[in-house]
Amino acid sequence: MRGKRLRRPAELVAAGLVPAERAAEIAAVAERFAVAITPEMAALIEPDDPADPIARQFVPSAAELEAAPEELADPIADRRLSPVKGIVHRYPDRVLLKPGHACPVYCRFCFRREQVGPGGEALDAAELETALDYIRARPELWEVIVTGGDPFVLSPRRIGELVRALDAIPHLGVIRFHTRVPVVEPGRVTAALTRALAAEKAVYVAIHANHPRELGEATRAACRRLARAGVPLLGQSVLLKGVNDDAETLTALFRAMVTARIKPYYLHHPDLARGTAGFRPGLAKGRALMAALRGRVSGLCQPSYVLDLPGGHGKVPVGPCYAEPGESAEDWLVSDPWGGRHRYPPRGRTG
Ligand SMILES: *Cc1c(COP(=O)(O)O)cnc(C)c1O
Ligand code: SF4
Repeated sequence: MRGKRLRRPAELVAAGLVPAERAAEIAAVAERFAVAITPEMAALIEPDDPADPIARQFVPSAAELEAAPEELADPIADRRLSPVKGIVHRYPDRVLLKPGHACPVYCRFCFRREQVGPGGEALDAAELETALDYIRARPELWEVIVTGGDPFVLSPRRIGELVRALDAIPHLGVIRFHTRVPVVEPGRVTAALTRALAAEKAVYVAIHANHPRELGEATRAACRRLARAGVPLLGQSVLLKGVNDDAETLTALFRAMVTARIKPYYLHHPDLARGTAGFRPGLAKGRALMAALRGRVSGLCQPSYVLDLPGGHGKVPVGPCYAEPGESAEDWLVSDPWGGRHRYPPRGRTG
């Protein structure tokens, strides 16, 4: 069962998500960046709350038209690192494969917001074959990350064809999908989809969620179906100002993920995508939040906090560091989760 997605400014006004006097401003944003909200996400929004964390993620705002000087059209150099259409190759052992650029929702902070959209340059059959040939010809590739856009907007038949084509490439070990579908349109996680994901190789699904309210019963049921089909689930979140940049919300988010069988994998610092400055906390804030979780919340609920360096230089952990060099090469000063500092290895009695 799939309801109608809200796309046009008039539809957002009719749904009570934006006041009529802001329709013109929203229309100007929609000309520049794609807009879509699924009925499931619209239902989570409390229209009377001006700071609603779900609305903030999906309802456009005029601030998106103001580009900050540090922002970039291609923040992580996807385009420069694309050897053939649909492939991004930055690391030696893995590539991104992007069959299309459509998503069920369009996040206002999206790092690929200049590329995603309903038209979204989908690969045709010949282009997909060329992309698969690129992977087939490179035995050093160990993993393919199918992303986009959202690959789970494809029909189960096309997903199944893609999984079978990748499963048949001997040098691949892992097929990983990146998706927001189990959260924003959980009804798409059907038995036909879980059958399409069946393979000899390990198939992982990384699910994007940013607020605990996104993990309601329908999403949890979709995760259960995937997990029962033998698919390990990973969580990807973006640290977003006004959505999840406090310790209570992050704790609730990661706990909700873990109880839905999703292992939090990455907490991304937001990329420098144009018009997204209002979503970016400072790195110091992100590091303090990660430190606040350590020792107080289960280790299962601790993703690694990563920054994708502008210019295509790769993702690196930027979370707090607990060890620093001590007096000699094999001496270290290590902090415990509560801020106490300890010599390692200890000298004499320790407290
Ligand atoms: C993020 C990304 C990956 C995946 O990185 P992991 O650290 O393995 O999750 C691979 N290739 C590109 C180009 C990426 O941007
Ligand atoms: S689902 Fe992912 S790719 Fe699609 S708009 Fe949101 S962040 Fe961008």
